[in-house]
Amino acid sequence: MDQQYPNHLDTLAIHGGREPDPETGAVVPPLHFATTFERDADGEYRRGHVYGRQSHPTRDRLERALASIEGGSEAIAFASGLAACRSVFDSLAPDAHVVATADCYHGLKSQIGALAENRRMSVSWVDTGDTAEVASAIRDNTSLIWVESPSNPMMRIADLPALAELARDNDALLACDSTFCTAAVQRPLALGADLAVHSTTKFLGGHSDLIGGAVISRKAGSASERIREQQVLGGAIPSPFDCWLLMRSLSTMPVRLARQSASAERIAEWLSRRPEVAAVIHPSRPDHPGHDVARRDMLAWPGLLAFRVRGGEAAAKAVAGAARTFTRATSLGGVESLIEHRASIEGTGTRTPPDLIRLSVGLEHPDDLIRDLEQALTTNH
Ligand SMILES: *Cc1c(COP(=O)(O)O)cnc(C)c1O
Repeated sequence: MDQQYPNHLDTLAIHGGREPDPETGAVVPPLHFATTFERDADGEYRRGHVYGRQSHPTRDRLERALASIEGGSEAIAFASGLAACRSVFDSLAPDAHVVATADCYHGLKSQIGALAENRRMSVSWVDTGDTAEVASAIRDNTSLIWVESPSNPMMRIADLPALAELARDNDALLACDSTFCTAAVQRPLALGADLAVHSTTKFLGGHSDLIGGAVISRKAGSASERIREQQVLGGAIPSPFDCWLLMRSLSTMPVRLARQSASAERIAEWLSRRPEVAAVIHPSRPDHPGHDVARRDMLAWPGLLAFRVRGGEAAAKAVAGAARTFTRATSLGGVESLIEHRASIEGTGTRTPPDLIRLSVGLEHPDDLIRDLEQALTTNH
C-alpha cells in the first residue's frame, strides 16, 4: 500500500507491506526461504532480487511495513537491535563525535564504549532529558545526537522537537532509539528526528520469540543509503523466518500496545499509593521529570515502568523473588509480564539504583498483575 495513504496506525499495521501474493492470491505474505534468485535469459534481474543478503522478498515486505508504521521513507532491518544501532555508528565519517544518552540500554553503552576506545569515534555522555546539557556537549565535528527516550531504566524523556532543531543547526543527525515506545506511543520522525531505531525484539516483536532491529529514516538520502550499505556489506540481516514472524506481530502491535499502556499506567498509579514503594518511575506520574514533555509528545504511555522499593537492594530482590504471575526475566515488550532487578543484570559499573525493579507489562488482566505485586510486596515487608 502507498505509505502516504492517510490511514491510522491500526490500519497501516495490518496493510503495510502485506498486499496479497501476486502469484497465488494468498492473503498472508508468503515466507520465502530462497537465498538466490533466477536471472532472466538475457542475464537481467527484472524480478528485483539477486542474492538474499542484498535484498530478499520477505525482508522487503517487512521493511515496507516498518517504514509505513513509523511514518518514514525507508526502513532497514537488522539481525538484532544492537546491529541496527551499530549500523548507524558505522555509517558516520571517521573521527565523528557523538553526543549520546548517558543512561541508555547497557549493551549499547558497552558497544559505544568499545567504538570510542578503538578511536572509531568519540562520545560525550549526557542527560538527553536536559536540552541545554546536550547543546553544551556539541563540538565542531559532532555528526550525531543519539537519544534513547524514554531512557533505560530511569525513563528520562528527551524534548525531541528541541533536539531536532539543535541537530539541524549543527549539521548533525538526530537518531532516537524508540524501542520502549513503538509508533503507538511516540513518533520520533514526526517530532523531527532523522532516524528512528528499534530493537524489534521488544514491543514490535511482542512475543519474546525473535531478535531483530530496524532503522527507519525520515527522508531518503545519504544517511539512509550509508546505513543500507552497512546492512548489505556488514551482512547482519534477519532471517526470512524472523522477518515473517515480525510481520505477523506488527499487525497486532497497536492493539497490544493500547492494553500494555493502559495497564502500565494503572499499575504505576497503584504502586504510587503503596507504603512499601519509595518511588515510581513512569512518565504517566505527575512527579516524573519528563511528565509534561511526554504529555505533549506521546500518544500513549509506555508499557513498562520501574519502581524503587523501601529497604534497599535486598528488599527489591525479595519482591522480584516472590512474584508469581510476573516472570523473572530480562527484556521487555512481550505478551507476558516480566519483573527484573535491573542493577544485577547490568552488572558492575551500573548506575541503576540497587533498589530498583523494572516491570514490562504484558497482556494479562491488570487486576491479576496488581494482585501479584501486592502479594510480592507484602510477603517481604
Ligand atoms: C534491547 C534493547 C536494545 C538492543 O536490542 P537487541 O535486539 O537485544 O540487540 C537496544 N535499545 C534498547 C532500548 C533496548 O531495550
